[in-house]
Amino acid sequence: MSLKILLSGAKGRMGSAIQSISSDHGCTVSYPIDLGDKPEDGIEHCDVVIDFSLRDATLSLAQLAKEHNKPMVIGTTGHSKEDRHAIEQLSHFIPMVWAGNFSTGVNLLFFLTQQAAKVLDLNSGFDPEVIEMHHRLKKDAPSGTADRLLEILKESRNASDKDVSHGREGMPGERKVNEIGSHALRGGDIVGEHTVMFAGMGERIELTHRATDRVIFAAGALKAAKWVVNQPANLYSMQDVLGLTA
Ligand code: NAD
Repeated sequence: MSLKILLSGAKGRMGSAIQSISSDHGCTVSYPIDLGDKPEDGIEHCDVVIDFSLRDATLSLAQLAKEHNKPMVIGTTGHSKEDRHAIEQLSHFIPMVWAGNFSTGVNLLFFLTQQAAKVLDLNSGFDPEVIEMHHRLKKDAPSGTADRLLEILKESRNASDKDVSHGREGMPGERKVNEIGSHALRGGDIVGEHTVMFAGMGERIELTHRATDRVIFAAGALKAAKWVVNQPANLYSMQDVLGLTA
């Protein structure tokens, strides 16, 4: 039987991509909503909620999903820390896959970055930098994917937000040992590119993923939707969906 989806952000780029391939994945977007529509009118007849809208819309939708006991897949990025925390709390009641990037390749990039960061640790003499590029219409920076890559690097180096240097300018001084660089480039129609660079003395390693079609995110989100309906309440990543654990 086809999985019935409430899709928020249905008129957007990702919403359109999901609707264009949903039937190929055994799913039906039975309740597409966008700005101004009422999710409460259709949620009861859906098996799962998918959110690719705007960061300010996610929390209330997640609260509604909890009230109706519906699993949720969240693709929207750029949430405030407070919203993020409040949304995460709801995963104690409903299963939730939350991923800044649903592509298989990017989740492999997360896995490889975890592995590389273990070897190229604080004592290795390698300096990590994250570089991301997106289309000119993207509203948030750094991207959700870059945020996750920065998190992986922070975790492996016992670093905190204050160790991350976003887009240096002026006279930032010499690079600190525990510094992690972050750079967001914007322009044209770039779907999404992420590079993690570990720069050492005399050598440099770069792990790069390039997305050329946003259908990869749509396919991943539908895969996550089919997976999450069979899971107990918890917060899951796309690495959990793909079975990629470090
Ligand atoms: P978009 O601007 O093309 O579409 C967003 C849609 O959401 C618009 O149609 C807008 O009208 C609608 N919207 C705004 N407020 C709403 C509300 N309160 N309720 C319902 N709908 C509302 O953006 P996009 O490129 O489709 O991206 C959407 C989100 O997904 C962004 O946060 C983006 O960063 C993220 N994204 C995530 C992934 C991933 O793999 N996780 C991939 C691509 C984009």
